[in-house]
Amino acid sequence: MITSENTDKRATNLYKPSDIEGKWQKIWEDDNLYNTDEQSSNKEKFYALSMFPYPSGNLHMGHVRNYVITDLIARFQRFQGKEVLHPMGWDAFGLPAENAAIERGINPDKWTKQNIAHMKSQLKLLGLSVDWDREFATCDENYYVWTQFLFLELHKAGLVYQKESEVNWDPIDNTVLANEQVDSEGKSWRSGAIVEKKLLTQWFLKITDYAEELLQDLEKLNEWPERVKIMQENWIGKSIGANINFKIKEFKKKKIQVFTTRPDTLFGVTYLAISVNHPLIKKISDNKILSKLENLKIYLQESKDKDQKKIGIPTNLIAINPINSKEIPIWIASYVLDEYGTGAVMGVPAHDERDFEFAKINSIDIKQVIIKDKDKSTSELTNAFTDNGFLINSNNFDGLNNSDAKKYISEHGERNGWAENKIQFRLRDWLISRQRYWGCPIPIIKCTNCGSVPVNKKDIPVKLPNEIKISSNKINSLGSNQSWINTTCPKCGNLASRETDTMDTFMCSSWYFLRYPSSKSLTKPFEKEKINKWLPVDQYVGGVEHAILHLLYARFLTKALRDNNLFDIDEPFKRLLTKVWFNLQLIKIQ
Ligand SMILES: [Zn+2]
Repeated sequence: MITSENTDKRATNLYKPSDIEGKWQKIWEDDNLYNTDEQSSNKEKFYALSMFPYPSGNLHMGHVRNYVITDLIARFQRFQGKEVLHPMGWDAFGLPAENAAIERGINPDKWTKQNIAHMKSQLKLLGLSVDWDREFATCDENYYVWTQFLFLELHKAGLVYQKESEVNWDPIDNTVLANEQVDSEGKSWRSGAIVEKKLLTQWFLKITDYAEELLQDLEKLNEWPERVKIMQENWIGKSIGANINFKIKEFKKKKIQVFTTRPDTLFGVTYLAISVNHPLIKKISDNKILSKLENLKIYLQESKDKDQKKIGIPTNLIAINPINSKEIPIWIASYVLDEYGTGAVMGVPAHDERDFEFAKINSIDIKQVIIKDKDKSTSELTNAFTDNGFLINSNNFDGLNNSDAKKYISEHGERNGWAENKIQFRLRDWLISRQRYWGCPIPIIKCTNCGSVPVNKKDIPVKLPNEIKISSNKINSLGSNQSWINTTCPKCGNLASRETDTMDTFMCSSWYFLRYPSSKSLTKPFEKEKINKWLPVDQYVGGVEHAILHLLYARFLTKALRDNNLFDIDEPFKRLLTKVWFNLQLIKIQ
């Protein structure tokens, strides 16, 4: 299969046994051995890429496993006669470096660069066929200037905004975490600390504008592992359903809106459940209820696994089911989240497992409205019935199959003004603000006249100040560095101050693969022609722990930059390998 024409000099250097002595030295000293030769553009291209490492100290076997696979693929493609791009860089900003620097009492910049030098020498000992000429670290000024540039591009496109919101606060790392960085037990993905809630003004990227495309385009990724696509699909979480308005008996002008994917079960609603922060709670004056509510809030703060217990507090309020005017009780329930939808859900115990459990615990009525077999009579349910079937106890809708009933009941509600069709996503906007030092500064200036003003492109990079103070658990944030903060407003020229948040490190890693084809450029983040030539990455290799965070952000950024006319590709990674194991028996090097 391998002919003399396509066995290039690099391969010969490596594999001729008689040459090996003395050659290894050359291989790890010679930076140019595997440089991609851009001249031979008539060859078919192949872009092989490993997820780049955090320079946290030493290379470990996890790194080796990853990089050896990509290296094998890169070599194989070279033997096939292709022009291969196989670069390497460093995901160098972020908490691992900052925390390690704090422990050792040295500047994270110095510490990071020492680690890069050491880990690079280790990678070279492995003899990887990496094009070291294209190497960069995300903490290099000539890289993060372009991270800031891309932030400004997103700002221009209306995809950046600021909002005060309740955020996930990691009390050990002293920073905010994105939802994706909090695990199912409510712990920080990095420090393992129980995450707290805090109110802060934060910067967000509107990834939700791309929810539909991020979902639809998963279909194009037919060389991705199925389970990664399923994880992304679940994370985006599209649901098709309806918003339904319930009137409140006690307050004629107030309504509770719920989102449901099951309008077909509306006759089976036996309670409404609202979250502990729902606006209606302000209307409750009963002290007994309020003190129970306080206890529940404390429990939710401290609870490790919020799904374990279904705690309910009955309010003395009554809602009216719009389809049959039935009066139903309103409960405060531990399982209703503020973030998702409207902070209120309709309880249909007969046809939802969680509602069934909640109704049993709290002695709430259970009313069956769907039955498997039209002709059979109903008996008491021992579990929620969640299959498809036919409607019963539903007035004019009796006998319909339930998927038709979804449509008819929504339409009936729309006609009568209490329902509207709604598509909802679980995906939230991407919170990128971090209150830490070792990150890419957000290029925004805060002016009392003009508000938050983007830094002019000619004035980037906004550089990180070199002088820092290190205390027991943190490096002084940018907020305490007056000479760095004070500046003038780009719009009105008045005295103003710099934004002191830095960007989530996932922002730095969400575009690095676009940089390699033109990593030397001092005038732009990447050259459009080179992106169109080299991208998408033909083979991407990395850990499955990045199935949602990194891979979803990278897909989003690619689409957003495409829409700013920076290049023409829709997806960054054609083929993905996350199952990082292989059988050594399969690889025989003669
Ligand atoms: Zn101004």
